[in-house]
Amino acid sequence: MIIVMKPGASVKGVSQVLKRVKELGLKPNLIKGKERTVIGVIGWVEVEPDYFEVLPEVEKVVRIMSPFKLASREFKNEDTVIRINGTEVGGRKITLMAGPCAVESKEQIKEIAGVLKEMGVKILRGGAYKPRTSPYSFQGLKEKGLEYLDEVKRETGLAIVTEVMSPEDVEKVSQVADILQIGARNMQNYPLLQAVGKTDKPVLLKRGLMATIEELLMSAEYILSNGNTRVMLCERGIRTFEKYTRNTFDVSAIPLIKKLSHLPVIADPSHGTGVRDLVAAVGKAAVAAGADGLIVEVHKDPQSALSDGLQTLDFKMFSKFLEELRALCSACGREI
Ligand code: PEP
Ligand code: MN
Repeated sequence: MIIVMKPGASVKGVSQVLKRVKELGLKPNLIKGKERTVIGVIGWVEVEPDYFEVLPEVEKVVRIMSPFKLASREFKNEDTVIRINGTEVGGRKITLMAGPCAVESKEQIKEIAGVLKEMGVKILRGGAYKPRTSPYSFQGLKEKGLEYLDEVKRETGLAIVTEVMSPEDVEKVSQVADILQIGARNMQNYPLLQAVGKTDKPVLLKRGLMATIEELLMSAEYILSNGNTRVMLCERGIRTFEKYTRNTFDVSAIPLIKKLSHLPVIADPSHGTGVRDLVAAVGKAAVAAGADGLIVEVHKDPQSALSDGLQTLDFKMFSKFLEELRALCSACGREI
């Protein structure tokens, strides 16, 4: 249930509620909005709403009907805005995350980072730990990759988004990453979700290959209920019978998630299509549908990329895409 305080409720009024919640053996989640404070109570609540409603500064008690609670709009009506290295995700501005699928060498990541920074990108993507379908494919440079990302971060000031694949690696990856990426294949790796939920790092949670939107939101709930409120949800396409594309990008997921949840939505048109020539069109569609940002694979020479070359843009294509996005943003009331 959520306990909605009257506008301008005092600290004393809020602490009366917190005391009662704790007496029930439950954990309160306090959210201070611009206008009012709400307190979320998760777990089986044995008391009737008036147990709280009798308190003088409580306006009302609302039961949350959806299976996800902390991620829901019922729990928090205002859009969540996440601050990362001086940029904001979830506000009026479209957040751009770009870079290669994988960190391949120090020279490769440095060169790409330099060019992207010139183009105005603030968040560099690049996998050090790569979840590959085949065990014989390039698995990422792992610790060396993290080291190179760290060096690039120091030199350029770019924020880093990179994947973490197992709970044991969370601490190590967190030392370099500004955003921890949970890949599609790990969307339902609950120990991993719990582990990133215990950090204070923003998390980019990608939709599983065959996951419903409700399952994605339930996975977000694992992170939120462990204390980490800085979660971004990523639509990256799902598996269908269509074979011309790698995945089927679900554009309807974007306005739907925005309706169900207050969390920012990032779109990945690279994995969403698997086809370089479709990335810009689908990326623009995602922004028009209300996405708060894009994550795009860009490489100096996509033909020689060690992973996901077919869906990777070169610098020229990316720069043209940015120009098109600028024009689109002004029509959608967004900025880039
Ligand atoms: C990636 O971002 O390179 C990646 C592996 O994505 P996904 O988990 O969406 O397949
Ligand atoms: Mn990739």
